[in-house]
Amino acid sequence: MNKQTVRDIDVRGKRVFLRADLNVPLDDGRITDDTRIRASLPTITYLLERGAIVILASHLGRPKGKVNDALRLKPVADRLGQLLGRQVRMTGDALGPGVQVAVDKLRPGDLLLLENLRFHAEEETNDPKFARALADMADIYVNDAFGSAHRAHASTEGITHFLPSVAGFLLESEVRALSTLLGKPPRPFHTIIGGAKISGKLEVLEALLSRCQAILVGGGMANTFLAAKGNAMGKSLVEADQLENASRIMAEARRKRVRLMLPTDVVVAAQIHYRSQRQVVAASGVPKDWSVVDIGPATVAAYTTHLAKARTIFWNGPMGIFEIAPFADGTNAMARYVASRTAAGVVTIVGGGDSVSAVDKLGLVDQMTHVSTGGGASLEFIEAKVLPGVAALLDREA
Ligand code: ADP
Ligand code: MG
Repeated sequence: MNKQTVRDIDVRGKRVFLRADLNVPLDDGRITDDTRIRASLPTITYLLERGAIVILASHLGRPKGKVNDALRLKPVADRLGQLLGRQVRMTGDALGPGVQVAVDKLRPGDLLLLENLRFHAEEETNDPKFARALADMADIYVNDAFGSAHRAHASTEGITHFLPSVAGFLLESEVRALSTLLGKPPRPFHTIIGGAKISGKLEVLEALLSRCQAILVGGGMANTFLAAKGNAMGKSLVEADQLENASRIMAEARRKRVRLMLPTDVVVAAQIHYRSQRQVVAASGVPKDWSVVDIGPATVAAYTTHLAKARTIFWNGPMGIFEIAPFADGTNAMARYVASRTAAGVVTIVGGGDSVSAVDKLGLVDQMTHVSTGGGASLEFIEAKVLPGVAALLDREA
C-alpha cells in the first residue's frame, strides 16, 4: 500500500483520533456479530502499548443526524472492554465541552470512546467546521475504518485536512488483500456473485467482466438473468426493470469470452418460511406459485467443478435466502468449497456484508485468504473507484 500507516509515525504521548468501523449488527441492544470490533483490536492495542492517548470514534447504524438511544455505542464499549480486558470509558456525545474535559484528562495509554458520530448531521455532510472540531481534539489521525472509506464524511475525509493522517492495520490489510484482485491475480480468476439484486451490483459486474475468466451467478440476482433469457420465474424475486441490463451483461460476457454461468437447477419454496414445502426443479421449470430460494445440487456440482480450475476466487453475495436454514444449502456448500481451495494455494477472497456473515456462521473465516469487513467499500474498491477515506491519507515516500 502506498499510504503511511501507524508504523510510520511516533505516537508516544500523542493524542490520536482513531476512526474505526465499529458498526456492528444489533438485536435489541445485543451485538449479534462482533467481527468488526475484533478486527479493530490490533490498531487499538498497538497505539495503547506505544503510549498514545487514543480517542476512538465510530458510527453505528443510521441515526440520520439525530440522537437515537437505540444506537448509542454503549454495547460496543462493553464488548470492546471485554476483549481488551479493561474498562472502556465513553463520552455522552461525539463533540462538545464535556468531551473536551474528558479528553483533557487522558494520559498516555488511555482510551476514550466517543458517542456515535452520526448523531450529528455534519458527519455525513462532511461539514468542515465539524471536521475541524474533531481534529482539534487530537495531534494525529488514524483511519482504520475500511468499511466507511468509500464515504467522504467528516471523520473519514474532512478531518484529514487538519491533521497528519495515516492508516491503521485493518485498513492496510484490506487494501493490500483487495489490491491483488485489481492487479494481476493468479489466473484463472473466477467470481461467484449472488445476493438479492442486480441493481446496485451492475458496476461491480461490469468491472469483473474485464478481469475474470468466469462469473458464476446465484441468489436472487440469478433469477433476473434467467428471466431475461425467457424463463418463467413464478413468484421469485425478479427485477423487472433490470432485464435489459441483465441481457446486456450476458452479451458483454460473450463478447469478452468470459464464462457466465447460471443455475441449471434451483430450490423452490411455496412460502419464504422455515417450514415451507420445498423442492428442487430445473431452472426452466419454476412452478407458477413458487419462489426460487437457493441454487440446486446440480448447480453446486457444476460450479464447484468449474471452480476447481481457478487460482483466484472472489465471492460476493449468498446463493440463496441463507438466513432461513433450509434455504442455505447452496450458500454453505459454496462456502465450504471455496474455503477448501485455500489450502490448495488458491487465493480466496470474500467481500460483502451477507456473504461474510454466511462464511462466519460456518466458522470458515480463518480458512479464507481474506474476508473483507468492508461490505460496500470492498465492492467499490473492486470497481477500481477511489475510496476518499484512503485517498486522503499521507502517501508513503518513495
Ligand atoms: P452481500 O451483503 O454479501 O453483498 P447482498 O446484500 O447483495 O449480499 O444480498 C444478500 C441478500 O440476498 C440476503 O438477505 C439473501 O436473503 C438475499 N437473497 C439471496 N438469494 C435470494 C433469492 N433467491 N431470493 C430473494 N432473496 C435472496
Ligand atoms: Mg448485504
